[in-house]
Amino acid sequence: MATPIAIPDCAKKLLLVLYPTVDWSLVMFFSGLPWWVASGTAAITLPNPLGIGGYRIYLGASTDFCDQATINTLVHEAFHVQQFTGIAGGYGVGFLRPGFFKYFVCFFSNKFKYEDNPYEKEAYAHEDAFIACNIKPCDCSTGQPVYNPTTPDDIVACNPDLIVRKPRIPDCGTWWAFLLALVVVPILAILAFIGHLFDYWNCVYLQMQAQQCREWGISRRQECSAWADQGYEQCTEWADEGYSACSQWADWGSSHCCDWWPCSWACKVLVWVSNWVCVVSVWIANVVCHVSVWIVNMVCIAWTWIVVAICLIWTTILRTILLCWWR
Ligand SMILES: [Zn+2]
Repeated sequence: MATPIAIPDCAKKLLLVLYPTVDWSLVMFFSGLPWWVASGTAAITLPNPLGIGGYRIYLGASTDFCDQATINTLVHEAFHVQQFTGIAGGYGVGFLRPGFFKYFVCFFSNKFKYEDNPYEKEAYAHEDAFIACNIKPCDCSTGQPVYNPTTPDDIVACNPDLIVRKPRIPDCGTWWAFLLALVVVPILAILAFIGHLFDYWNCVYLQMQAQQCREWGISRRQECSAWADQGYEQCTEWADEGYSACSQWADWGSSHCCDWWPCSWACKVLVWVSNWVCVVSVWIANVVCHVSVWIVNMVCIAWTWIVVAICLIWTTILRTILLCWWR
């Protein structure tokens, strides 16, 4: 039975350094394999069978992060996450995700040989390059895996290419392999969906996702109001500039008036009136500016609320269907 585990900080930080394109908060780690995977498999990486995002790394052989072999396997599996999320952000429905689909196209077109699949070749090449550098992110001298802070520097010093800054996805596949995958992958997706339908970990994942939606909402609302504050400041700055331009113009105007009556009198009246027209227009423009910023801010906040509400309603419906509340 596979059980979710929290990988130690040192392993998490290593993944953040090696694969900066991946959102690691959407990846769950398991000790053990899914029940339908052949025992003896060291590890496997799969999309969340019921989710639209998120991946699962199952560590079948070992979860002892003081053992360098576990770290090496994690580096390999995490490379697959990087491949899968490299196309369309890794999103899709269950197993039906473009990056995961392409894995099978490449597997089929390379004579169904696991070791000849470019997806695996590249993952093994990356793992080997990592092993060659002898990077030790987890210091276990105290008996517990503790993060070794020189890890990022060690990686850069040994082989900067270990850091996958842009998704690396192999280019492979024939048309018939594509057609075969069009048949096989949806069948796998349906089987995985059914096989994991009442899997308790879906509930855990959905709870995680709901929490993430809430956090996203909070940070998004902060962004909205920070933007609005900046907008109000900008409006006030423009208005101040406008008022000083008006009074400068008035000063210049009155000092250049003719000095004989009634011309001087008419000129002063004209300057006075146009100064007031100028001040009033700046004032109106300033009010319009503030109101526009306020409206955009309201739209920004309302939109955030709607997205969060849809996410929470959807996860609540799924959790009800999966009987998560009663388990
Ligand atoms: Zn692999």
